[in-house]
Amino acid sequence: MINALTFDIEDYYQVEAFKNYITFEEWPRYPSRVEQNTQKILGILAERHVKATFFMLGWIAERFPAMVKCIADDGHELATHGYAHQMVYKQTPAEFEADLAKSIEVLERFSGTQIIGYRAPTYSIIEDSYWAFDTLIKHHILYDSSIFPITHDRYGVPNSERFPYRIERDNGASIMEFPLSTLRLWKWNFPIAGGGYLRLFPYWLLKYSLRLLNRQQKPGILYLHPWELDPDQPRIPNISVTTRFRHYVNLHSTANKLRRLIRDFQFAPIREVLNL
Ligand SMILES: [Zn+2]
Repeated sequence: MINALTFDIEDYYQVEAFKNYITFEEWPRYPSRVEQNTQKILGILAERHVKATFFMLGWIAERFPAMVKCIADDGHELATHGYAHQMVYKQTPAEFEADLAKSIEVLERFSGTQIIGYRAPTYSIIEDSYWAFDTLIKHHILYDSSIFPITHDRYGVPNSERFPYRIERDNGASIMEFPLSTLRLWKWNFPIAGGGYLRLFPYWLLKYSLRLLNRQQKPGILYLHPWELDPDQPRIPNISVTTRFRHYVNLHSTANKLRRLIRDFQFAPIREVLNL
């Protein structure tokens, strides 16, 4: 089985959990670490000639066009993570469309490739925001990877399908969905797909879970952010205990886990796994 490997390319200060402390207008004030951290990822993938999908913020692409080009030239897939990391369900359909269109324009201009994939900031396509699929289809996006089939305080569609499937809309149009990987135990889905979960859980549990999916002939999908491989990133002061734990737990372990995952499993960009 070939699994999908994905990275959401954004800086450490742009995450939803810091929204109450750092506004969009304040982003330029923070020292950027996204380029060096993305280079770290590219280096690790190059060790084993593994290709992945990079969901990038348009805001980042505009500031680091050379990095966009470098990712594309390395043979990875570029996809969009929106422009300004705004939650889908907190935007109006018009705001969402403007943000999406801007990100696609920037990413296509700098990468010279066609953008066919989308991942919502913070997995924010929930049942109330399925209208977003119509906008994605309108902008020639062929697949989405924003649905997390779990219960969570910020995101999640607990009763969603767990593996790639086609979402059919009322107007007859459709789009592929690649939900983030979960482990099903009795009637609950547990997240194993990456990010904080990957940092929190021991490697053997990640390996066991992914093996279980692959034995069922199902592809898994993993995600990470560049800042998750950066134990030396500046610490944001005065944040809540939960946020601090979620953002900073086991940052030192991520690079090693990523190396072991790409050694033990087969990975490819989403467009290849879905044959698009
Ligand atoms: Zn994000």
